Amino acid sequence: MITKWCGSRSELECCVSRLNAKREMSERYLSGVEELAGYCASCGDIVKFGNTVTPGEKWKNLRESFICPRCGLNGRMRHAYIELAAVIESLSEPKVLLFERVTPFFSALEKIYPFVEGCEYVGPDITPGTIIEQKMIDRKLRVRHEDMMAISFPDESLDVIFHADVLEHVPDWIQGIRECHRVIKPGGTLVFTCPFFFMEESITRAKVENGEIVHISEPAYHGNPMSQSGSLVYTQHGWPLLEELEKLGFETVESGLLWDPWQGILSTNNPCVEGQMWPLMFRCRKPAG
Ligand SMILES: [Zn+2]
Repeated sequence: MITKWCGSRSELECCVSRLNAKREMSERYLSGVEELAGYCASCGDIVKFGNTVTPGEKWKNLRESFICPRCGLNGRMRHAYIELAAVIESLSEPKVLLFERVTPFFSALEKIYPFVEGCEYVGPDITPGTIIEQKMIDRKLRVRHEDMMAISFPDESLDVIFHADVLEHVPDWIQGIRECHRVIKPGGTLVFTCPFFFMEESITRAKVENGEIVHISEPAYHGNPMSQSGSLVYTQHGWPLLEELEKLGFETVESGLLWDPWQGILSTNNPCVEGQMWPLMFRCRKPAG
């Protein structure tokens, strides 16, 4: 299958409703298999993806599963790889910043596109742009610290910015997107994923007031390769995200749907409709000026 890029909510809803019965049947079956032979876009080869059970969840989150034994990318990351690679390939040695550096995703991308730059949020008292020597389990890495709310790059200096499931952890996500928009060149592209639910309103779960975190609902944390305690979720995004991205200055805001069992790219398969997440990528273009 190829990505269906949708320029509106109604177009995306239409695609999803056409696919849903097939998805439910396929994912019910795939939840029960231990491995799945399929195509890994990052390795460019047929591999056997391993199915995993996410601890604490009653069902198998297939979005995070079917991990490639060779490159270590799960379905969500292979989807991101496909869409980011397509944007990079359309440009000539673009300046690309990824909001990840220590992950298998960065390693896979850097192998093919050595000019890409990665960064991580290392800690609160570090100046954005500082290079930190980070101890990993098996190696030491030089990691650039960046805070999405105060990116150290100059205005209009990057062709592409990419982040994958980072935005929900940014205390002021609007400021984060504003900063991405500022440093992207005219005509440049922001490519990102975040947990996205078909909800009428986005949900603010936590916020920062006077330097303190204020929890509005039960704190939720996601895994973070830079911190054992994980990352706090500040926002769960629903439909308002698409409008906000346009308001923040992006000319075209598209949602790319790629549901493809052959590539092990699937949904969260959440039995609760409100928690269901499709394999979606957001691609936003800054006006050419
Ligand atoms: Zn692979």
